Amino acid sequence: MDDLKRQFNRIGMRYTAQRSLVHQLFLGSPCGLTIPEAVSALKDRRVGETTIYRTVRALQEIGRLCWVHDHKGEHRYVACGSRHSHPIVCTVCGKVAECRTCELSVLEKLLGLETGYTVEGHHLEFYGKCADCSRLPAQETQ
Ligand SMILES: [Zn+2]
Ligand SMILES: [Zn+2]
Repeated sequence: MDDLKRQFNRIGMRYTAQRSLVHQLFLGSPCGLTIPEAVSALKDRRVGETTIYRTVRALQEIGRLCWVHDHKGEHRYVACGSRHSHPIVCTVCGKVAECRTCELSVLEKLLGLETGYTVEGHHLEFYGKCADCSRLPAQETQ
């Protein structure tokens, strides 16, 4: 927890009880949440929309939250453990897992050489079936 406080301080914010509630909510949501979902989940805890927006942005900045697209194309925010990780979304149950290994620096260098751009980062989307859903018999197409 101290670690989080320090990271929030570094970006000029305090890790308040309300912001901690927002963080806990995401930590407990393996499928991630859209902002409206987070807002309605925390309505009874008196955490306002602005606080949620600002906390989501801060958590992203310190690398504790990343986002994925769900099947409706909406952004879902998912807790993650490192500044740079690659999430994979289950197309059946929506559960998100993360891979902390990234081997794309070579591709970034190539891209830079070919285009003359200074590559600053990348966002990749992986999707597939999680281990549990892979074990299920294939669903009949409707
Ligand atoms: Zn699944
Ligand atoms: Zn990467």
